[in-house]
Amino acid sequence: MARRLKTLEPHCHDMTAHSPTMTTRQPAGAPHFHDQDGTLHAEGVSLAELGQALGTPLYVYSRAALATAWSSYQDAIGSHNVLVCFGMKANSNLAVLKEFARLGSGFDIVSGGELARVLAAGANPAKVVFSGVGKQRWEMQAALEAGVKCFNVESVPELQRLSDVACSMGKVAPVSLRVNPDVDAQTHPYISTGLKENKFGIAIEEALGAYQLATSLPGLNVVGVDCHIGSQITEVSPYLDALDKLLALIEQLGALGIELKHLDLGGGLGIRYDDETPLAPKVLLDRVFAALESRGCSSLQLVLEPGRSMVGNAGVLLTSVQYLKHTEARNFAIVDAGMNDLLRPALYEAWHGVLPVVPRQSTTTLYDVVGPVCESADWLARGRQLSLEEGDILAIESAGAYGFVMAGNYNSRPRPAEVMVDGDIFHVIRQRETFADLIRGESCLP
Ligand SMILES: *Cc1c(COP(=O)(O)O)cnc(C)c1O
Repeated sequence: MARRLKTLEPHCHDMTAHSPTMTTRQPAGAPHFHDQDGTLHAEGVSLAELGQALGTPLYVYSRAALATAWSSYQDAIGSHNVLVCFGMKANSNLAVLKEFARLGSGFDIVSGGELARVLAAGANPAKVVFSGVGKQRWEMQAALEAGVKCFNVESVPELQRLSDVACSMGKVAPVSLRVNPDVDAQTHPYISTGLKENKFGIAIEEALGAYQLATSLPGLNVVGVDCHIGSQITEVSPYLDALDKLLALIEQLGALGIELKHLDLGGGLGIRYDDETPLAPKVLLDRVFAALESRGCSSLQLVLEPGRSMVGNAGVLLTSVQYLKHTEARNFAIVDAGMNDLLRPALYEAWHGVLPVVPRQSTTTLYDVVGPVCESADWLARGRQLSLEEGDILAIESAGAYGFVMAGNYNSRPRPAEVMVDGDIFHVIRQRETFADLIRGESCLP
């Protein structure tokens, strides 16, 4: 249901002397998240009012930001033969999936649950690629039933199992081998996936043998090759190194009579959280198209699996200051969102911008912004100069990717609601969980 905020109750803060120094750094989600008359807005909706109306913690996304991210890929692609498969583990809300499906996106899934979601969103299975190191039989069956474009196979035993499952269903599974090109994506070790020591993919040296096995198995049809070297990548060179190795492999396969239809470079493009310079799709793709051409491979379809760069800066997490706690060593802003709502800081020591939705004029204090969860890892931001009072609403920036999808119920905390802003209206695209949701499915001993 589309809703409009009942405007405009006068805001309690004095905004007449809005300090320009507070706005020197553009919001990471600009221009869709922007300051308007001293209040942070998502498109045409005041985040102060939205947070008050719906409560916090609250995930807020911008529909226009999704469309802009989609266009940044399409503009870079032009008339080349490229299928963009949104890496949906970054944000799998049905409304987000449906929006990308409507724009023409395919999807990269990593589980049977994600397959169920894309089907529920009405996506075309012929544009779905299925990645993941641990595919179970039932997941393979469901994906074969649905008719996905391709299985991105990550090991030799998986090839055997997939052939088995397909044969038992009287089907042939289209496969691509996820190759581990052993390149350093120069990103955080937890989100680097293309190094020898990672669990992902088939080592490039073993790929030829794996392809030969794949072509000999009765339930498989070899159609492609893929890699995914990591996430939050801001340099072109790791991609070009990986591409080089894949193209060399494709040549070797050609010599053996194994012809591929597509090459999938995975996802991983970085976004701006702080002061990073993100890698624009155009910068990457111009180089990729040139490399494909120079190696005589321009007839191959290119597949991309961007996740973070499609949604990361399309969302914020709104949270309210509960207490300001001043100790000898630190000042803590204790907020109502915790690591159960946004795990990235605790998991990767990730940096997220923190913007008061209505900045104050008073002098700032150095704060650690922490949640209410009983863990020392429960922090959202450390060492930030902020001017705060109890009750203030903060926007945790760049929370559209790997935000809600990683949320859990630790400390019996209901997961936040999710809202999609569209111009000056908004839609609740996921209700806030209730206490009843928390204990659904549990039962006591007789
Ligand atoms: C996570 C993942 C993606 C998306 O990665 P981003 O860094 O969010 O773009 C794409 N492909 C595979 C196989 C993945 O595991």
